[in-house]
Amino acid sequence: MICPSCKSDKTAVIDSRDVDLKAIRRRRECDDCKYRFTTYERVEPVKLNVAKRDGKVEQFDREKIIRGIKIAANDRISDPMVSDVADEIEQKLLELGEPAITSKKIGNLVISKLKKIDEIAYIRFASVYKNFQDIDSFEQELVKLKK
Ligand SMILES: [Zn+2]
Repeated sequence: MICPSCKSDKTAVIDSRDVDLKAIRRRRECDDCKYRFTTYERVEPVKLNVAKRDGKVEQFDREKIIRGIKIAANDRISDPMVSDVADEIEQKLLELGEPAITSKKIGNLVISKLKKIDEIAYIRFASVYKNFQDIDSFEQELVKLKK
């Protein structure tokens, strides 16, 4: 780190402390002119890539998850709750650390989450997401739900 006062490159960290989970504050001092200054280090947000069914890769869009859940929930789940679900899923995807996550995996995460929150929203989302080929698979899903 270059001293902002005299441009010397001989500066030292004299104190470090965490500001929050994503940032650290460092107090620095220039060896040459003794000027003291503060720097902040932040975690750069990681970009998530999604591999779609047709093989195309696009950037993860949190809003898409929110829209999907809202359509399925049809006002059965409050907006803050939908937002929480989207946050939780985004966090899980980041933890996976994969270069490109399949849209299927994301869909399954949403499905398993909705299952715990609202059964109607769950079945609606699952029916759209899994693209049920026939009425049998839809009924199988309903049977599983009843258990
Ligand atoms: Zn200096």
